[in-house]
Amino acid sequence: MEEKDFPDDSADEERIGRKNRRDTLVVTAVFLALVVAAFLGVKLFNPGYSREPYRRVEFVLDDYVTITVYGKDQSRVEEAVDAAFRELFRIQDIADRYRSESELAGVNREAASGPVRVSDELWEMLETGMEIYRASGGAFDITVGPLVDLWDVVGRGEKGEPPPSEEEIARAREAVGADKLELDAAARTVRFAHPGMVIDVGGLAKGYALDRAAGVLRSRGMTSGYVSMISTDLTMGEKPSAAGGPLWRIAVLDPRGEGYLATFLLTAECYVSTSGDYQRYFEYRGVRYHHILDPRTGYPARGAISVTVVGGRDGAWSDGLSTAAFVKGYPEGLQWLQAAQGVECLMVDASGVVHTTPGLHSLLEELKERAGS
Ligand code: AMP
Ligand code: MG
Repeated sequence: MEEKDFPDDSADEERIGRKNRRDTLVVTAVFLALVVAAFLGVKLFNPGYSREPYRRVEFVLDDYVTITVYGKDQSRVEEAVDAAFRELFRIQDIADRYRSESELAGVNREAASGPVRVSDELWEMLETGMEIYRASGGAFDITVGPLVDLWDVVGRGEKGEPPPSEEEIARAREAVGADKLELDAAARTVRFAHPGMVIDVGGLAKGYALDRAAGVLRSRGMTSGYVSMISTDLTMGEKPSAAGGPLWRIAVLDPRGEGYLATFLLTAECYVSTSGDYQRYFEYRGVRYHHILDPRTGYPARGAISVTVVGGRDGAWSDGLSTAAFVKGYPEGLQWLQAAQGVECLMVDASGVVHTTPGLHSLLEELKERAGS
């Protein structure tokens, strides 16, 4: 081993130190250039979103809500979904009448004694409810609460109780009727003209909340996603091509069997709402009693097994229309939706046969002809 391999000369040391620093600078510069090039490459040549979406499920408004978002920046996506769920919980605090501290529970306690001022959100739900009440000739009625409470389909099912008596139903019906609801648009107040009235926005609140959640996602720059409230869903923007887009594949459950009754391929901003007799019900002596009541008879509506509405001007409207058409039943409900409401519809009649509006076919991927087949 020779000594010159280990120079101890201080001038040499300084030269070598400068060279090392220069090398480090060159390596850092090349590294940074590569990072910038990679970033620009991703931006310019791959503007698509992640193949895998960010998805979260929470229990809100008495059902499992799923928000799915395709985004580029994971932390921004997560923050947006957080905020959307906060908005859903806020709407629940307004509209869930089963929570004693909710705004609607307060209205139901106080509005028989005098006018009660309500929030903008509750007012919007009540207004849409009244519109659908008038448009449906009373099949949809947000004052159906006393009948819903009397039937208490989940409670009766758990206790194995029989359906309520005709007298009980007649008595409950006296406190039902949106014509007995006094709404003052200027003062934004609600008053009950009959004691014992109960407002129930369960037929449209999920659709309303859906729009609020979608609004939060959009305001935070989320442009591609899907919000599912189980019975009312919304496609937001296009599905990314990397994930098989641009169409969204949406499935509707078979109300009498395994699997799906139909699958749709839908474009952006499309509402899908389903009302069915299989979602909440009890059986007594072989007869099914479910949660969608005909305010005109006081009994569970019998004219259909399930109704799916595709389209609609907004979430509350789409949600309310499916409930209204279910009460109207087949064929009246289907004709009404098609002619008067300009939405597409799939309806399973009381014997299980599937009917559709003609315009639905271009949206369908698969369809059973009969439920349970
Ligand atoms: P949906 O699942 O959207 O069809 O809504 C069903 C819910 O709407 C029920 O659980 C009740 O809270 C409420 N409801 C039941 N019958 C009616 C009706 N005829 N009009 C309006 N809301 C109703
Ligand atoms: Mg509904």
